[in-house]
Amino acid sequence: MSRYIPESLRTLVREHDKGYCAYCRSPESLSLVPFEIDHIVPLSRGGETEFRNLCLCCPICAVSVQ
Ligand SMILES: [Zn+2]
Repeated sequence: MSRYIPESLRTLVREHDKGYCAYCRSPESLSLVPFEIDHIVPLSRGGETEFRNLCLCCPICAVSVQ
């Protein structure tokens, strides 16, 4: 399950990645489901919920990077 990420931080990450998945660069506008905000370094491996550790992530990559 996704952890809590403040809305302001989500907005920042969305704007930074411009609506594209940070891993495969597919556009969110062509996706049937909203993209997620993903932790680049998972919380379980010491990653933190901060801007530089977050990216926009499509559902396919969300499954494959975990
Ligand atoms: Zn992707």
